[in-house]
Amino acid sequence: MGRLAGIFWARLKGLVPDELNSSEFSWLLLPTRHFSLLAQRRATMIVNRVRLFAFLFAVLTPLWAIIDYFVFPLPLWFALAALRFSACIAFILVVVHYRPSGSLGNAYRAMALLFAIPTVFYVASHQLLIGYSLAGMSAAIATGYAFLPFVLLAGLSIFPLSLIESALFAAPILLAQFLAGVLNWGVMDWPTFAGAFWLLALITGVSALAGISQLAFMIALVRQAIRDPLTGVFSRRSGEETLDLQFTIAQRSNAALSLAFIDLDHFKSINDSFGHEAGDSVLKAAASTIAKHLRRGDMLVRWGGEEFVLILPNTDHQQAGVALARLRQGGFGWRPDREPVTASIGLAEIKADNCQDWRKLVETADQRMYVAKRRGRNQVCDSDESTVERAWHAAEPVVNYQAIVPAGEM
Ligand code: GH3
Ligand code: MG
Ligand code: MG
Repeated sequence: MGRLAGIFWARLKGLVPDELNSSEFSWLLLPTRHFSLLAQRRATMIVNRVRLFAFLFAVLTPLWAIIDYFVFPLPLWFALAALRFSACIAFILVVVHYRPSGSLGNAYRAMALLFAIPTVFYVASHQLLIGYSLAGMSAAIATGYAFLPFVLLAGLSIFPLSLIESALFAAPILLAQFLAGVLNWGVMDWPTFAGAFWLLALITGVSALAGISQLAFMIALVRQAIRDPLTGVFSRRSGEETLDLQFTIAQRSNAALSLAFIDLDHFKSINDSFGHEAGDSVLKAAASTIAKHLRRGDMLVRWGGEEFVLILPNTDHQQAGVALARLRQGGFGWRPDREPVTASIGLAEIKADNCQDWRKLVETADQRMYVAKRRGRNQVCDSDESTVERAWHAAEPVVNYQAIVPAGEM
C-alpha cells in the first residue's frame, strides 16, 4: 500500500515542473500562502485573460444571431437576438471596466462576472427555447445552446488557478446543471443527463489540472524572475514592483516606510586589481552578509552593478538608522587583499522626507548616498539638514550613531 502511494506521489510530482520545491506544492492547492509578487502577477494575468475572453465573446455572441435568423421563427429570433445583444454589452463593459491592478479580489470579481454573463444567458435562452417545439435544423441549433456550460468549464483551463479556486468557480455551474436536471425530474431522460453530467465533471477535472500546471510554471518563472542570478537577492524589477506595492500599503495605513540606497566603495578597484571573477565573489559575499542582518519583511534588492536598495517596511527614520548601524557593524565582507569592503549609504523615509511616490523615495536616498560618497565614503547620510550642517566639517562622519543607537547596542 505504502509503495503504491509512493508511486502515485512520484507520478504526481512528475506532472509539475522540476523547478518547484516541495514546500511550494501546497501553493497549487490553496492560494493563501502565495508571496505577494506571485499574487500580483497572477491577478494581472487573470484579468488580462478575462478581458481577452470577454472581447472574444463580445464579438462572437451577436454574430451567431445571423445563424439563428435562418433557423428560428421570427419572434423567437427576436428575443434571442435581444438576449445576445445584452450579453454583448455586458462583455464590453467587462473589457472596459476591468484593468489589471494587481489585486486578486479584483481578478476574482472579473472572473465571476465573465462566468455569470453566459450563465444568465444560458438560463434565459433555455427558458425561451422550451416554449417552442422545434424540429430538424432548428432543433439541432437549439441543442447547441445546451453546450454553453461545457464551454464555460473548458474555459476555466486558461486561468492559472489553484485546485480550490478552480473548484469554487466550477461549483456553481455544476450545481446549476444538477439542479436543472432534478427540477426536470418527470420529463428527464436520465441516462442522457447522467452522461452529460459525467462529461461536465471530467471537463472540470481536466480544466483544473490545466490551471494547476499553469500555476506551477508561473510559480517557477516568477521565482526565477524576481531573483538576481548572481547574488540571489531580489532583482531590480521585482524591487520596483514591491516598492510600488509597499508604498501604497504604507500610504493607506499611514505606516512608515524607509529605504536605504547602498553603494559599495571603490568597487572598480577590486575588478581592476583582482579581476572580474574576484569582483563577482566579493559582490555575492556582500549581498549575503547584508541579507544575514535583515529582519523578516525587509527586502534587499540589487538595484544595479554594486548598488543595493534595502526596503524597510513599517520602519521609521530612527528605527532605520538603528537597522543600518547594525548592518554596518556586520560589515559588507572582505576584499581579496583582506581589507574590509565598505559602503556609502543614503537613507530616506516617506513621512520624514514627504515623498509623494516611491520614485521620489529612491531618488532622495540615492542623492544622499552621493552626499555620503562626497563626504568621504563609508558612512550614512540620513537627511538633507545633516548634509548642509556638516558640509562645514568635512572630516566628520555624517551620522552620529551614538545619538540614535541605545547604549549597549553598538
Ligand atoms: P565609488 O562607488 O566608491 O565611487 O567607486 P566605485 O569604483 O564603486 O564606483 P563605480 O560606480 O565607478 O564603479 C562600479 C564598478 O562596479 C564598475 C563595474 O566594473 C563594477 N561592477 C558592476 N557590476 C558588476 C558585476 O556584476 N560584477 C563585477 N565584478 N563588477 C561589477
Ligand atoms: Mg555605483
Ligand atoms: Mg561604488
